[in-house]
Amino acid sequence: MDKETTILIVEDEPRIRTGLRDFLEFHHFQTATAEDGLEAERIVDHRRFDLILLDLMLPKISGEQLCQKWRQSGLTTPIIMLTAKGMEKEKIDGLNLGADDYVTKPFSLEELLARINAILRRTEPGRGVGQKFPFGPWSVDMPNLKIATSKKTVELSPRQAELIRFFAANPNRVIPRGELYSRVWGESMEDIETRTVDMHVAKLRALIEDDPTDPRLIKTVRGVGYLYEASAGDDCASGGSHREQRGG
Ligand code: CA
Repeated sequence: MDKETTILIVEDEPRIRTGLRDFLEFHHFQTATAEDGLEAERIVDHRRFDLILLDLMLPKISGEQLCQKWRQSGLTTPIIMLTAKGMEKEKIDGLNLGADDYVTKPFSLEELLARINAILRRTEPGRGVGQKFPFGPWSVDMPNLKIATSKKTVELSPRQAELIRFFAANPNRVIPRGELYSRVWGESMEDIETRTVDMHVAKLRALIEDDPTDPRLIKTVRGVGYLYEASAGDDCASGGSHREQRGG
């Protein structure tokens, strides 16, 4: 099964935990849950999440302590803090949380969903890559939808540019087709069109790979998805054949 956007719910109150899980799964997120700070810490040590919902008042390790600990260890996963009713904004700002956002209980699920989506849009696709960045031997110019080497310039469709940006932001990592589809197309995983993803990757390869049948930049990982090899050589994009290949 392809990877989805995965959210960790850290909440000790069973009713809220279950409610959040059901709501997020209904909205096509994959979820994991933790009942206390220790369990959350253990889970995060072994698994990557796209976002963490973190209750502030937790048994064993508090949300604030966890958040600080994670940030100190370099974890960049976005965190939305679930704070207690009656907690004033000034008080939350005063805590050095390191969280990206917070909601105050009782919160509306729709509002929480809007905040989750806003953060995911901000952080993915293409987190940290910027508007101009290298892609193998190419220089990518996002605002002008162009990709160039010293020898040639190729125009990109907005989708192709987003695909490249997502690969560039996730170098040397196997990216399941489903993840590409949900991040670059913004569609729910339920309706995943693997053929759409494969066709776009094939077209992109025809533009940027020297030999699209033996791609150096965007490799097929059979049965899973694609891998951008950031260390690919400088000499692989001088040509640009137009043969196409379906990713396996
Ligand atoms: Ca609590």
